[in-house]
Amino acid sequence: MPTEVKGLNEECGLFGVWGTPDAAQITYFGLHALQHRGQEGAGITANDHGDLQSQRGLGLLADVFRDPARLARLTGEAAVGHVRYATAGNHGVENIQPLEFNFSDSQFALAHNGNLTNAVTLRRNLEQNGAIFHASSDSEILMHLIRRSPAANLTDQLKDALRQVHGGFAYLLLTNDRLFAALDPNGFRPLVVGKLPTGGYVVCSETCALDTVGATFIQDVHPGELLTIDDNGLKIDHYTTDTQLAICSMEYIYFARPDSDIYGVNVHSARKRMGAALAHEQPVDADIVVGVPNSSLSAATGYAEASGLPYEMGLIKNQYSSRTFIQPTQVLREQGVRMKLSAVKGVVAGKRVVLIDDSIVRGTTSRRIVKLLKDAGAKAVHLRIASPPLRFPCFYGIDIQTTKELIAAQQTIPEMCQTFGADSLGFLSEQGVIDAVGLKVGAPYGGLCMAYFNGDYPTPLYDYQAEYDEEQRQLQAKQSRGD
Ligand code: SF4
Repeated sequence: MPTEVKGLNEECGLFGVWGTPDAAQITYFGLHALQHRGQEGAGITANDHGDLQSQRGLGLLADVFRDPARLARLTGEAAVGHVRYATAGNHGVENIQPLEFNFSDSQFALAHNGNLTNAVTLRRNLEQNGAIFHASSDSEILMHLIRRSPAANLTDQLKDALRQVHGGFAYLLLTNDRLFAALDPNGFRPLVVGKLPTGGYVVCSETCALDTVGATFIQDVHPGELLTIDDNGLKIDHYTTDTQLAICSMEYIYFARPDSDIYGVNVHSARKRMGAALAHEQPVDADIVVGVPNSSLSAATGYAEASGLPYEMGLIKNQYSSRTFIQPTQVLREQGVRMKLSAVKGVVAGKRVVLIDDSIVRGTTSRRIVKLLKDAGAKAVHLRIASPPLRFPCFYGIDIQTTKELIAAQQTIPEMCQTFGADSLGFLSEQGVIDAVGLKVGAPYGGLCMAYFNGDYPTPLYDYQAEYDEEQRQLQAKQSRGD
């Protein structure tokens, strides 16, 4: 799982289903395929003939539902589920989703993936107008906006609410008689819809979850779309047409599972092309290519193929030590790297190694892996990264919201090379990423969000703008002083 060694975290995975027996069981299997998107909490809400019941808890999905009675209690033909990664200070069980809301006339279960850029302002306005929040995450905001909308019916109230929230979001909203799915106007997070052999519909974060439950892909949910699924079938509508595709490029680079397709592009194949482009852009005289398991293996095979160097298994990942290291604290992250990876001495000793990683965030992992390989006898370690340097924070649902955590924002490439103890260091260019993904769309950056690399955010930053400007000012002052 990506989060175990890198400390770069997606905030959530979503799965919803309508119109099939054992909906909660299917949701469980779907969430299992999405566990890489969040490991700190999981929950499922089922709808049994209009009655909503939930089970939620902290930990991995299998831990939350260790007692089979918990899942067995969730009967009915519709359900939504959520796996969560919580950002700092947000680890309470009250933030585990789906969030359930019980009103005198209706029930709702809400599952959210992403981050709102105007959440602070919206929440302050809502609280000033009497709204009471139960959890500290932004996810409740949408529900308050729906309930306060003057529109005549629920669909219009939801559209009204969706037009007021900004940033990155994918929502699933289960009601007594419907399942809604909505995506932000830039489509930062992947969301797909499929059909089960039983005739029911599934909406989920990645196609790998469709495959797991035997659903057939229908389409990616597009920016600004609002889907409604009920006993009459699937209806695709818009809450806005003011959209501009900007899929998070990190989904292709690192987050999504390699067997998923996003907008028709297979993630493994895109990573392999990134590796091949990296070999052309950053060639090196070496003996073997080694990838950092598991998220860099696709790029490493691409690099090996394009460079003509043999791909070798020079690093092994321990598959059985994930539980202890899911907490996102720096101390545990550092310890986690040592516990999770081992160098294969018999493969790397005496060799000049090209070490492929998909990205560099804090740099802790890179430094430790270079050392692991050198301690195992590697003659040289040339580090090659299958994405550009991460220099800017993300405000759309990734847990890096300050440049202080990004080593590439603090150091030049030669400085980083020295910090990592590598013999050389090279990154893939922005164009290399865009071409490797190869979406055939007219949007800027080939339909990708590249803000992590270039600071060109596809939306205004609203509540984050002042803080971001101040941080950039301090960074520039520091760079011009040369410290
Ligand atoms: S800023 Fe980076 S991580 Fe955030 S959505 Fe854009 S590409 Fe993805």
